[in-house]
Amino acid sequence: MTDGLLIVSEKTCEEVVSRADAFVAVRDVFAAMARGDARNFPVIREALGYADALYGFKSGFDKAGKSLGVKSGGYWPGNMAKGLTNHQSTVFLFDPDTGRLQALVGGNYLTAVRTAASSAVSIAQLSRPDAKVLGMVGAGHQSTFQLRAAVEQRNFEKVVAWNPHPDMLPKLGAVAAELGLPFEAVSREELGAQADVIITITSAFEPLMMRDWIKPGTHIACMGTDTKGKQEVDANLVAAATVFTDEVAQSISIGEAQHAIAQGLINEADITPIGEVINGTHKGRTSDDEITLFDGTGVGLQDLAVAAVAARVAAERGLATRAAL
Ligand code: NAD
Repeated sequence: MTDGLLIVSEKTCEEVVSRADAFVAVRDVFAAMARGDARNFPVIREALGYADALYGFKSGFDKAGKSLGVKSGGYWPGNMAKGLTNHQSTVFLFDPDTGRLQALVGGNYLTAVRTAASSAVSIAQLSRPDAKVLGMVGAGHQSTFQLRAAVEQRNFEKVVAWNPHPDMLPKLGAVAAELGLPFEAVSREELGAQADVIITITSAFEPLMMRDWIKPGTHIACMGTDTKGKQEVDANLVAAATVFTDEVAQSISIGEAQHAIAQGLINEADITPIGEVINGTHKGRTSDDEITLFDGTGVGLQDLAVAAVAARVAAERGLATRAAL
């Protein structure tokens, strides 16, 4: 990167980081994590006691990709009324050789595109190649990003969806229509019976999908659970599945596996970093009937990986603001 500080706006991030770019960046950093070349630092997340806000940091260092930095931000529930997104974040990138600040990159679009890339990587690595029906549980801000990235991984012929607030489903249906896919709002049981791949992306604190509703051979990407206490699927489903994750430490503490672990249904050793599948050191899916589950907890290194792409491409195309340090 160049001397001085680069400032990359939200709008520029949308222009310069495609889904394909995010997929490659996230896949490569998961691989680097599994090789021991990249690590996340402990996450800080605190209630401010002001504006009902949650605020925190996710940081890490990728020695292979030379990304050092932090995503800082959180959740301000009153923002919607001010015409702003409730989740707000910014990525700070530092030069790993000197510690000098290199770039400030808007983190809102990047969070959505990197989270969608994470489940997409899991679908590419773990779902059956003949998967035809995609099941979406959740219809909030992240869901349309998830849908767009997922349909690029398999030849899906149909989308079935369920959301606790059904009035949110038409927005997801409109994206399916734009992608040329039939879209059906169904019950949760029907979703489990039809779907070959399921993505859960809600703010649930109780299981929404039960073990007995899931077909053999299904791949399920649990993307909403990123905090202690949250839960999207039955702990017995986690126990019945072969479980993969972005980072085991987060999976057992703040991810979907926290409940199966707490109930003694599985052990930490039963959970495999998806980077091992990417690197070829774990075989991934081994049969057509196996249920695979990806616990996507969201790690800081994903944010740094996509922010590094944004900073590099924005600089190359003259789209970043430059400031002296
Ligand atoms: P959003 O507020 O736009 O949508 C929330 C979704 O959850 C909707 O489908 C809504 O109907 C549902 N919902 C709300 N309250 C619920 C409840 N009590 N029980 C069950 N469902 C409920 O949020 P979003 O930006 O789409 O994010 C969805 C989830 O994904 C959040 O939990 C967020 O923290 C998480 N997330 C995870 C990652 C990651 O890397 N794993 C990244 C970003 C967001």
